[in-house]
Amino acid sequence: MRKEDIGVMEDKRILLHTCCAPCLLYPYRRLVDMGYDVVSYWYNPNIYPVMERVIRFRELERYCSDKGIEFVYDASPSSDFFSIMGDRLVDSPSRCSLCWAIRLENTAKKAHELGIKNFTTTLLVSRYQDPQEINRLGKDIARDVGISYLAFDFRDGFDWAHQEAKRLGMYRQRWCGCIYSFSARARALFRRGKYEKIWI
Ligand code: SF4
Repeated sequence: MRKEDIGVMEDKRILLHTCCAPCLLYPYRRLVDMGYDVVSYWYNPNIYPVMERVIRFRELERYCSDKGIEFVYDASPSSDFFSIMGDRLVDSPSRCSLCWAIRLENTAKKAHELGIKNFTTTLLVSRYQDPQEINRLGKDIARDVGISYLAFDFRDGFDWAHQEAKRLGMYRQRWCGCIYSFSARARALFRRGKYEKIWI
């Protein structure tokens, strides 16, 4: 193999920050179609409570193992998330930018450590997140760390991913992650008399 070819292949490796198994489905497919060699990366200390984090982690690990997808993870405890968020972990959507930044920064550093030159995130498939802000943060962080962030908007695959996750019998969570998103969801279900559905 020529040296230039090795360079091209290395540039096609990408560390894909993965928030959960259902959100991996569409971005993974799109990136593979684009010729990327995708490594899924779990780092989500924001998820509350801890049992929920374990469930989402296990589902992703199982899916990657079944499909032969390279998978790496950082299982830092949620205390890390609480200490970084500090006073900014508030009952307002303003907390989300910092939550995204924490996970993107960790992913960029992990990619750098692994010698992977590109990174992006599955958060970009969700209709409940803000791809413009996530992409802005990703580019800033990439500049600081010295690697490349790939900006996307994967939301055109949201419905497909939802149906596919259902078809595959994947665990699908009922709230975004943090304690406030859990409370908001629990309140909404409680009002409808369906509180127990938060766990199903
Ligand atoms: S709602 Fe989601 S993105 Fe926002 S802070 Fe909570 S876990 Fe993070």
